[in-house]
Amino acid sequence: MNNVAFSFIIRVFLCEAFLGSRVHEALEKLYKELILTKLNTLDDLVQYYKDQWDKSWHKDIAINKKEYTKEHYHDTGIKAITDYYKRHFPFNQSTTLATEQLITFRIDDYTIRGYIDRLSHRGKGIYEIHDYKTSGYLPTQEKQDSDRQLALYQIGVKKQFRDAEDIRLIWHYLRFDKDFESARTDAQLRYLKKKVVSLIKTIEKDTVFKPMESALCAWCVFPEYCPAKKHEYKIQELPSNKYLKERGVSLVNKYASIKAKIKELKEQEEEFLKELELIADAASKYAQKEGVSNITGSDFILKVIEENVLGFPRSGEEGREELEKFIKKAGIWEEVSGLNTARLSKMIEDKELDNKIKNGLLKFAEEVEGVRVRLVKKRGEEE
Ligand code: SF4
Repeated sequence: MNNVAFSFIIRVFLCEAFLGSRVHEALEKLYKELILTKLNTLDDLVQYYKDQWDKSWHKDIAINKKEYTKEHYHDTGIKAITDYYKRHFPFNQSTTLATEQLITFRIDDYTIRGYIDRLSHRGKGIYEIHDYKTSGYLPTQEKQDSDRQLALYQIGVKKQFRDAEDIRLIWHYLRFDKDFESARTDAQLRYLKKKVVSLIKTIEKDTVFKPMESALCAWCVFPEYCPAKKHEYKIQELPSNKYLKERGVSLVNKYASIKAKIKELKEQEEEFLKELELIADAASKYAQKEGVSNITGSDFILKVIEENVLGFPRSGEEGREELEKFIKKAGIWEEVSGLNTARLSKMIEDKELDNKIKNGLLKFAEEVEGVRVRLVKKRGEEE
């Protein structure tokens, strides 16, 4: 990381992280002092939170979500502490062993290190690893059951306490006054160790670190340096008269406009193809009625040919759904204009498709008696 990026980290803090730190401090005080038999009142704790908030607040704390103010975050912390306090009072569910406990242990050649928000025990080999969360979303139980962080702490706790037989992983989602609990078996921990070692090895081998875009980008403090976001970051500062002229913006806009035109033309083509099918059908009936095989126009002749053609399941017929799935998977959905079966037959006949796709398609087709038309110029050249 270069120096500019490093100074950026020091300078910018997000209000969400600031709120999380203040709430963690308040709960740390609560349980740390409980070890020394001092029970803070709710008022004490909220006052402590407010003091810490005022003492630590500085001008570089950023609020990314413009619809919220500093006060919204401040009051969210008070509510989180109050809800937690009222629900857990008098805090005798378990005995706190440590708060903000550094846990260090080795897996193969690697040292793993982390901080447990609160470690407690209930006797009879039952230990609890507590984690406080102040994020604005609730995870699913499934996600917590596969969470890596607390499961790794479990490995450390097991090494530290020989009597630890039943270790419970507990997350307190404080904004929602909701807890999640999970546990890991020995087999799951063995699997986790393998996965972690393999992940570390993969990271060690990496020399290129590509951006991994996700919902978290909204909180990222590096958009200015990130290949995925730096253009957006650059152009948002441009005045409106320069914005559209910026080379990147103009290239994207041009590309999008041509793509839109192609889409429009394809839709038109689809309409025309349907119309052609209707005309071919009418021409075939006309040929039958008049007893002719060639119908002559001004410059062209339409040859009406009776032959076996490939028939595909029509909309609503059995096999249609599977056929659509196959075509989409084969990446030719747009080429067959959605699913134009006449176009499909022609592509097979004209050998436009590779053999694997062709053979896959033929599984959905059956030969049926049909009529096909071919347009030729009057001098005999096919159109
Ligand atoms: S903006 Fe870039 S660096 Fe930041 S989280 Fe997103 S992908 Fe990662």
